[in-house]
Amino acid sequence: MISLVYMATKSSRQKGPGLTRGEKAASKDELEKQLLDTVKRYELIFKATNDVLYDLDMLEGTVIWNEALYSQYGYGKNEDVSTLEWWTSHIHPDDALRLEHELSNWFEGGHDTWQAEYRFRKADGSYIYVRDRGVVHRAEDGTPLRIIGSFLDITQQKQLDRAKTEFISLVSHQLRTPLTVIRINSEMLNGGLLGTLSAEQETYAKEISEASSRLIKLVSDILNISRVELGHIIAKPVPTNVNKRLQACIKEVSPLAQKRGVTITYQPDNTVKRVSVDTTIFDEVVHNLLTNAIRYTKSQGGIVDVSFLRTAEGYMLTVADNGIGIPKSAQPNIFGRFYRANNTANIKEHGTGLGLYLVKLMVEAAGGKVWFESAKEKGTTFFVLFPEEII
Ligand code: ADP
Repeated sequence: MISLVYMATKSSRQKGPGLTRGEKAASKDELEKQLLDTVKRYELIFKATNDVLYDLDMLEGTVIWNEALYSQYGYGKNEDVSTLEWWTSHIHPDDALRLEHELSNWFEGGHDTWQAEYRFRKADGSYIYVRDRGVVHRAEDGTPLRIIGSFLDITQQKQLDRAKTEFISLVSHQLRTPLTVIRINSEMLNGGLLGTLSAEQETYAKEISEASSRLIKLVSDILNISRVELGHIIAKPVPTNVNKRLQACIKEVSPLAQKRGVTITYQPDNTVKRVSVDTTIFDEVVHNLLTNAIRYTKSQGGIVDVSFLRTAEGYMLTVADNGIGIPKSAQPNIFGRFYRANNTANIKEHGTGLGLYLVKLMVEAAGGKVWFESAKEKGTTFFVLFPEEII
């Protein structure tokens, strides 16, 4: 094959320096034919699918849709669907803000493809879930000129996912009460409240209490995740004294820090007074980041530094440790569901791999962003940016 291409190129080169007038006319005809073929192919592709396809001109803000927009979503041909405003006005209001954030992150990232999931309104007023995927054509300086993409209707898949998540949510909720009973009773046994235990009995009671605590943490993480995924956790910010709140969170984890020989430092910024925050989200995020910073630390001399500052983009929470760090190879997966990096192997830390997944879900539910910087054996810093108007 390669040699055939080579021969074809070579023989065309051997023809001589220029084209004759006849050859020029022929090549012009050939070009026109190729162009018409391409246009025809483009038209046929637009017609051949039941998925809605679009061609968005980013500079003009105009959109060309294929037939499926009319046949699948019920819009009449007399409706003016040719503007970006028409498109955005058909996105579900509850998805609009999230989508705006995703879009601005995407713009900053300079990616070649675009993907998002959201609800889109049909002509009868009902909403369907679409997976919107597009490829981007950019100018030489990187400015996006157009996006060509498609909407895949994923409503059924979403309904199934929702039913599954509702089931998980129900089961976790039901599991919590009996698990708490097991933990409390084993702690009572352990604490000698039900009589003196032999050394062997004490060991078993301790194991029961530790295992039930881990199970409760797992079940409550799963419950929280299912709540966010079901859209039951919607950020409800209330004016809060964040410094006090952070101090309370630090106090809560201080027994664990003492056990690990870790010092937590926090210098409240007195210019930050009352900030509008969703306290459930705030506490959960801080708790998870703090316990990780304490757990994934060196055996002695661990320091965890917490700060909460006002920045140009919003409020920034940082939790920095001087612990074991996250290996480079694990960094892209760190926010994944059930993901645990191999840095935990030597320190034998129990965990679920759900903490950071939950942090990301919750921060994004509040319209924020979370990321980290880490170096192996040096430490890790997690950054959480909450947009001022939302948190
Ligand atoms: P878990 O801690 O229950 O395993 P997380 O989702 O909270 O789950 O964290 C995922 C993984 O990320 C952890 O297993 C650990 O490998 C790594 N990790 C998280 N925080 C830190 C940290 N501060 N320092 C080093 N590794 C961390």
